[in-house]
Amino acid sequence: MSVNLDGPELRAMVDEAGKDPLEALARRLLEEIGEDPERDGLKDTPARYARWWREFTNYDPGTVATLFETSSAGQLVVVSGIEVWSLCEHHLLPFNCSLTIAYRSAKQLLGLSKFARIAHQHAHQLQVQERLVADISSDIMRITGAEDVAVVGQGEHLCMTMRGIRTSARMTSSALHGAFAEEGTLRSELFAHLRAA
Ligand code: ZN
Repeated sequence: MSVNLDGPELRAMVDEAGKDPLEALARRLLEEIGEDPERDGLKDTPARYARWWREFTNYDPGTVATLFETSSAGQLVVVSGIEVWSLCEHHLLPFNCSLTIAYRSAKQLLGLSKFARIAHQHAHQLQVQERLVADISSDIMRITGAEDVAVVGQGEHLCMTMRGIRTSARMTSSALHGAFAEEGTLRSELFAHLRAA
Protein backbone atom coordinates (compact mmCIF):
# COMPACT_ATOMS: atom_id res chain seq x y z
CA MET A 1 0.00 0.00 0.00
CA SER A 2 1.68 3.21 -1.08
CA VAL A 3 0.30 6.69 -1.43
CA ASN A 4 0.62 7.87 -4.99
CA LEU A 5 1.58 11.54 -4.83
CA ASP A 6 2.16 11.79 -8.53
CA GLY A 7 -1.13 10.56 -9.96
CA PRO A 8 -3.65 12.22 -12.28
CA GLU A 9 -5.65 13.52 -9.29
CA LEU A 10 -2.62 15.44 -8.13
CA ARG A 11 -1.89 16.86 -11.57
CA ALA A 12 -5.50 18.01 -11.79
CA MET A 13 -5.14 19.77 -8.44
CA VAL A 14 -1.91 21.41 -9.59
CA ASP A 15 -3.52 22.66 -12.80
CA GLU A 16 -6.52 24.02 -10.97
CA ALA A 17 -4.65 25.94 -8.32
CA GLY A 18 -1.66 26.72 -10.52
CA LYS A 19 0.44 25.51 -7.62
CA ASP A 20 1.82 22.22 -6.44
CA PRO A 21 -0.18 21.24 -3.30
CA LEU A 22 2.88 19.60 -1.73
CA GLU A 23 4.85 22.80 -2.16
CA ALA A 24 1.98 24.80 -0.69
CA LEU A 25 1.97 22.39 2.25
CA ALA A 26 5.70 22.89 2.82
CA ARG A 27 5.33 26.67 2.74
CA ARG A 28 2.50 26.44 5.27
CA LEU A 29 4.62 24.18 7.49
CA LEU A 30 7.50 26.68 7.43
CA GLU A 31 5.14 29.49 8.41
CA GLU A 32 3.64 27.42 11.22
CA ILE A 33 7.04 26.88 12.81
CA GLY A 34 7.78 30.60 12.67
CA GLU A 35 9.96 30.67 9.56
CA ASP A 36 9.83 32.96 6.57
CA PRO A 37 9.45 30.80 3.44
CA GLU A 38 10.68 33.71 1.31
CA ARG A 39 14.06 34.07 2.98
CA ASP A 40 17.09 33.09 0.92
CA GLY A 41 17.89 29.71 2.45
CA LEU A 42 14.27 28.56 2.30
CA LYS A 43 13.17 29.85 -1.11
CA ASP A 44 13.64 26.53 -2.89
CA THR A 45 12.85 24.33 0.09
CA PRO A 46 9.14 23.76 -0.72
CA ALA A 47 10.03 22.55 -4.23
CA ARG A 48 12.72 20.23 -2.83
CA TYR A 49 10.29 18.96 -0.20
CA ALA A 50 7.70 18.14 -2.87
CA ARG A 51 10.27 16.40 -5.06
CA TRP A 52 11.61 14.35 -2.17
CA TRP A 53 8.18 13.08 -1.12
CA ARG A 54 7.38 12.03 -4.70
CA GLU A 55 10.71 10.26 -5.12
CA PHE A 56 10.37 8.47 -1.81
CA THR A 57 6.83 7.21 -2.32
CA ASN A 58 7.21 6.32 -6.00
CA TYR A 59 10.12 3.91 -5.68
CA ASP A 60 10.23 1.49 -8.61
CA PRO A 61 11.65 -1.88 -7.54
CA GLY A 62 11.92 -3.16 -11.12
CA THR A 63 11.58 -6.93 -11.52
CA VAL A 64 11.37 -8.64 -8.15
CA ALA A 65 10.54 -12.20 -9.14
CA THR A 66 13.50 -13.65 -11.04
CA LEU A 67 13.69 -17.33 -10.11
CA PHE A 68 16.29 -19.98 -10.88
CA GLU A 69 15.81 -23.73 -10.89
CA THR A 70 17.94 -25.37 -8.22
CA SER A 71 19.15 -28.88 -7.60
CA SER A 72 19.81 -28.06 -3.95
CA ALA A 73 16.24 -27.63 -2.70
CA GLY A 74 15.99 -27.62 1.08
CA GLN A 75 19.16 -25.63 1.66
CA LEU A 76 19.14 -22.69 4.01
CA VAL A 77 19.76 -19.38 2.23
CA VAL A 78 20.59 -16.35 4.40
CA VAL A 79 20.99 -12.86 2.95
CA SER A 80 22.09 -10.31 5.53
CA GLY A 81 23.20 -6.71 5.66
CA ILE A 82 20.39 -5.30 3.54
CA GLU A 83 20.21 -1.67 4.69
CA VAL A 84 17.03 0.29 4.06
CA TRP A 85 15.60 3.65 5.13
CA SER A 86 11.93 4.01 5.83
CA LEU A 87 9.59 6.52 7.48
CA CYS A 88 7.86 5.87 10.78
CA GLU A 89 4.14 6.36 10.21
CA HIS A 90 3.60 7.72 13.72
CA HIS A 91 6.01 10.65 13.48
CA LEU A 92 6.96 10.89 9.78
CA LEU A 93 10.58 10.59 10.88
CA PRO A 94 13.12 8.26 9.27
CA PHE A 95 14.30 4.96 10.62
CA ASN A 96 17.00 2.77 9.20
CA CYS A 97 16.80 -0.96 9.30
CA SER A 98 19.39 -3.65 8.72
CA LEU A 99 17.60 -6.72 7.41
CA THR A 100 18.42 -10.40 7.36
CA ILE A 101 16.27 -12.55 5.11
CA ALA A 102 16.43 -16.34 5.40
CA TYR A 103 14.51 -19.07 3.67
CA ARG A 104 14.74 -22.75 2.95
CA SER A 105 14.49 -22.97 -0.79
CA ALA A 106 11.74 -24.92 -2.46
CA LYS A 107 12.39 -25.96 -6.10
CA GLN A 108 13.40 -22.46 -7.16
CA LEU A 109 15.88 -19.90 -5.86
CA LEU A 110 15.25 -16.18 -5.88
CA GLY A 111 17.93 -14.01 -7.55
CA LEU A 112 20.15 -12.36 -4.95
CA SER A 113 19.50 -8.74 -5.94
CA LYS A 114 15.76 -9.30 -5.65
CA PHE A 115 15.88 -9.45 -1.85
CA ALA A 116 17.10 -5.85 -1.68
CA ARG A 117 14.50 -4.72 -4.25
CA ILE A 118 11.69 -6.31 -2.24
CA ALA A 119 13.03 -4.78 0.98
CA HIS A 120 13.30 -1.28 -0.54
CA GLN A 121 9.85 -1.56 -2.07
CA HIS A 122 8.30 -2.04 1.38
CA ALA A 123 10.58 0.52 3.03
CA HIS A 124 9.60 3.29 0.59
CA GLN A 125 6.31 4.04 2.27
CA LEU A 126 5.04 4.98 5.72
CA GLN A 127 5.83 2.01 7.94
CA VAL A 128 6.34 0.55 11.36
CA GLN A 129 9.25 -1.85 11.69
CA GLU A 130 7.06 -4.83 12.63
CA ARG A 131 4.99 -4.47 9.47
CA LEU A 132 8.08 -3.90 7.34
CA VAL A 133 9.55 -7.32 8.26
CA ALA A 134 6.12 -9.01 8.02
CA ASP A 135 5.43 -7.56 4.54
CA ILE A 136 8.84 -8.62 3.25
CA SER A 137 8.37 -12.15 4.59
CA SER A 138 4.94 -12.44 2.90
CA ASP A 139 6.46 -11.44 -0.44
CA ILE A 140 9.33 -13.94 -0.11
CA MET A 141 6.82 -16.72 0.64
CA ARG A 142 4.53 -15.73 -2.21
CA ILE A 143 7.28 -15.35 -4.81
CA THR A 144 9.43 -18.38 -3.92
CA GLY A 145 6.71 -20.74 -2.70
CA ALA A 146 8.91 -21.47 0.33
CA GLU A 147 7.16 -22.10 3.65
CA ASP A 148 10.17 -21.69 5.90
CA VAL A 149 10.91 -17.97 5.77
CA ALA A 150 12.38 -15.59 8.33
CA VAL A 151 12.96 -11.85 8.18
CA VAL A 152 14.75 -10.11 11.04
CA GLY A 153 15.17 -6.34 11.14
CA GLN A 154 17.29 -4.19 13.45
CA GLY A 155 16.37 -0.55 13.28
CA GLU A 156 17.29 2.79 14.75
CA HIS A 157 14.42 5.24 14.84
CA LEU A 158 14.88 9.01 14.78
CA CYS A 159 11.59 9.35 16.64
CA MET A 160 13.43 7.70 19.55
CA THR A 161 16.85 9.27 19.17
CA MET A 162 15.71 12.84 18.33
CA ARG A 163 12.68 13.18 20.55
CA GLY A 164 11.29 11.51 23.68
CA ILE A 165 14.11 9.89 25.61
CA ARG A 166 16.72 11.12 23.06
CA THR A 167 18.86 8.07 23.29
CA SER A 168 20.28 5.82 20.66
CA ALA A 169 18.78 2.34 20.72
CA ARG A 170 18.27 -0.41 18.22
CA MET A 171 15.02 -2.29 17.99
CA THR A 172 14.78 -5.82 16.68
CA SER A 173 11.66 -7.30 15.09
CA SER A 174 11.25 -10.61 13.37
CA ALA A 175 8.70 -12.42 11.21
CA LEU A 176 9.26 -16.17 11.50
CA HIS A 177 7.33 -18.71 9.45
CA GLY A 178 7.29 -22.50 9.06
CA ALA A 179 10.23 -24.27 10.70
CA PHE A 180 11.71 -20.91 11.78
CA ALA A 181 8.70 -20.39 14.05
CA GLU A 182 9.56 -23.50 16.09
CA GLU A 183 12.55 -24.46 18.19
CA GLY A 184 14.85 -26.57 16.06
CA THR A 185 17.92 -26.83 13.85
CA LEU A 186 16.82 -24.27 11.25
CA ARG A 187 16.04 -21.62 13.85
CA SER A 188 19.32 -22.26 15.70
CA GLU A 189 21.20 -21.96 12.41
CA LEU A 190 19.52 -18.59 11.73
CA PHE A 191 20.35 -17.26 15.19
CA ALA A 192 23.97 -18.39 14.76
CA HIS A 193 24.07 -16.35 11.52
CA LEU A 194 22.60 -13.32 13.30
CA ARG A 195 25.12 -13.54 16.15
CA ALA A 196 27.97 -13.76 13.65
CA ALA A 197 26.71 -10.82 11.55
ZN1 ZN B 1 7.96 6.99 15.42
